[in-house]
Amino acid sequence: MPSFPKTMLHHSEGSNRKRPGGPFSHKHDIQEQRRALPIASAEEQLVEEVSKIDTLVVIGETGSGKTTQLPQFLYKGGFCKKGKIGITQPRRVAAVTVATRVAEEMGVVLGQLVGYSIRFEDKTSSATKIKYLTDGMLLREALLDPMLQSYSVIIVDEAHERTIHTDVLLGLLKAVQKRREVSNISIGDRKLSKKREFENGNSDSAKVSDLKLVIMSATLDTAGFSEYFDKAKTVYIQGRQYPVDILYTYQPEPDYLDAVLITVFQVHLEEQPGDILVFLTGQEEIESVERLLLERSAQLPADSLKLVVTPIYAALPCDQQMQVFKPTPKGSRKVILATNIAETSVTIPGVCYVIDPGLVKARIYNPRVGVESLTVLPVSKAQAVQRSGRAGRERPGKCFRLYTEDSFYKLDDATVPEIKRCNLANVVLQLKALGIHDILGFDFMDKPSSIAIRKSLEHLYILGALTDEGKLSDPLGVQMSSFPVEPLYARAIILSCEYKCSAEILAVVAMLSVESIFYQPRGKSEEAKAAKQRFQCSDGDHITLVNVLRAYVCEVERMGNGHAAGKGILRWCKENFINGRSLRRALDIYSQIERYLHGMGLPTMSCKDDWMQFRRCLTAAFFLNAACRQADGSYRALSSGQTVSIHPSSVLFGKKPDCLVFNELVYTTRHYIRHITRIDSTWLPELASQYFLSKTAS
Ligand code: ADP
Ligand code: MG
Repeated sequence: MPSFPKTMLHHSEGSNRKRPGGPFSHKHDIQEQRRALPIASAEEQLVEEVSKIDTLVVIGETGSGKTTQLPQFLYKGGFCKKGKIGITQPRRVAAVTVATRVAEEMGVVLGQLVGYSIRFEDKTSSATKIKYLTDGMLLREALLDPMLQSYSVIIVDEAHERTIHTDVLLGLLKAVQKRREVSNISIGDRKLSKKREFENGNSDSAKVSDLKLVIMSATLDTAGFSEYFDKAKTVYIQGRQYPVDILYTYQPEPDYLDAVLITVFQVHLEEQPGDILVFLTGQEEIESVERLLLERSAQLPADSLKLVVTPIYAALPCDQQMQVFKPTPKGSRKVILATNIAETSVTIPGVCYVIDPGLVKARIYNPRVGVESLTVLPVSKAQAVQRSGRAGRERPGKCFRLYTEDSFYKLDDATVPEIKRCNLANVVLQLKALGIHDILGFDFMDKPSSIAIRKSLEHLYILGALTDEGKLSDPLGVQMSSFPVEPLYARAIILSCEYKCSAEILAVVAMLSVESIFYQPRGKSEEAKAAKQRFQCSDGDHITLVNVLRAYVCEVERMGNGHAAGKGILRWCKENFINGRSLRRALDIYSQIERYLHGMGLPTMSCKDDWMQFRRCLTAAFFLNAACRQADGSYRALSSGQTVSIHPSSVLFGKKPDCLVFNELVYTTRHYIRHITRIDSTWLPELASQYFLSKTAS
């Protein structure tokens, strides 16, 4: 059992900002809750500032009401006369849950006045004035509406996260705002230009933009935003934070998931009532901890509080995401298992205890070899502090860091912006599609390295999306940029029409867009493996995934509709150790992408059981991810030269194919490849001749 030395307790810096006023409880009505938020007293000031200046930076602690309240203030303040308010979120979950909450607060039907738009899901209408959307979606909208004319205000929320899309968006918005400058304007209820003219003493320079920008952040370290937007004014929302005891482990934990389980029960049995928030790295981990908690909570003493476990992560269906916000039932304690989402994007009421293993899953790209991998990494100090802050929102709390105090001091201060550590191919393709050709000269807040930019230009060129002059190729590049998936997948889908297997490639792309189709509960891994064999194809994981989707669709069709059918499907998933949630989402994504395909006049065609044709298509699509077996039995990725190993979860593990294509590189103890299909090595020069012939020549 991890032990937490009492002597090592110390308070987070928020403790001396304690303010009078008790926590609000669930019985207060929603309007009272709104009035109790720290941002409420700043309403007038915020509306005033936004009318006076073009760009405002707003800083406020998580939970102070920025995301839910500011758009409502601006709406009331008359900023929607000429356009709507867009609020961008790095995460889909935040866009959905916050929009739902705001619609509820305003007493309107979601999708009307208040709506959201995320990839594969649009809940807005022509009546929508307050629109929550992911930063990626706003970038897509800019393709169709380059001046973003339908918006009068754009709020870039969670800017401190510095996701790759946020950074591109900041650059784009800065340019669009400049281009939307007008010399005489009235926005909101106030006439502005007169005042400006007077202040400047020169009517020619009285330029204001009719696009207002608000950059919102939860961390203090925002000088960069203000600087980037020509020294934009910053407003601070005074937060309300109770002291949080930080506890560390004496020793590093060898198995942090085990430590999580132990700590949850330790808190549950020893601490006062109050909900527990646990930070985990992904869906798979959350689901396995969820199962274990449920199993073990059956052994709790009869007189203890009941444990209610609620997960929250991106791929969870919307109605289930909203479950975490439901008040904890009397006589129970809620354990929220969350990804990074709960760090700053969503605030869940009732949390008093935070359990933080100190890890996060991130994409890391090595531009030199052109390899991107999904890696679990230690968080930064800033993230650790944010996480512990979640425990002190309503009353004093505790944070259990499942690592040593020493390791805390060794963490990086802040997270490196994603744009400096990710594959830029998608971003470059989007910028090109927006008509921005000089990527190296683009005004980024933090410039990615020129080697990373060049590498992605080269990558897009090899995929045929760019011409010799670096322009978007027509039709391939144009088509690729309009699919809401990574360029490599977009190209695979387009190619699959030639290979008459678009149904199967769509299935693959959809299945790879969700996490963990198969699950292996601890202690039942043999049964799970046996179940997987029913779908398994010795040629690889892609066909296996198609088999699962086909079998599921067959089963759904066989069962028909109704309650009994729903139960039957659940049983089928359980028997086959298939994650029903993920599968339903994959089907949803399938139909969404199919719509784009049809929109381009391209057909869905099935290759039925002609798997050779399908594998040839995979080869043509993913030749950049081909790897061949070396004399010593290891694999070498052909384009990067990286030595890789087949992941044990692959159906090809231990099968030693000579040549293969893969879709994911995961770095744990070594570079593992996942989602693999066996190919014939002679197909590479045949189907990707340009690339392989030029490689041999050089
Ligand atoms: P910030 O953006 O400053 O972090 P938010 O506007 O997201 O703050 O949250 C303000 C308050 O609204 C918080 O107390 C939070 O608990 C509450 N809240 C947000 N979303 C929901 C929801 N879906 N259900 C219930 N309460 C919510
Ligand atoms: Mg927020």
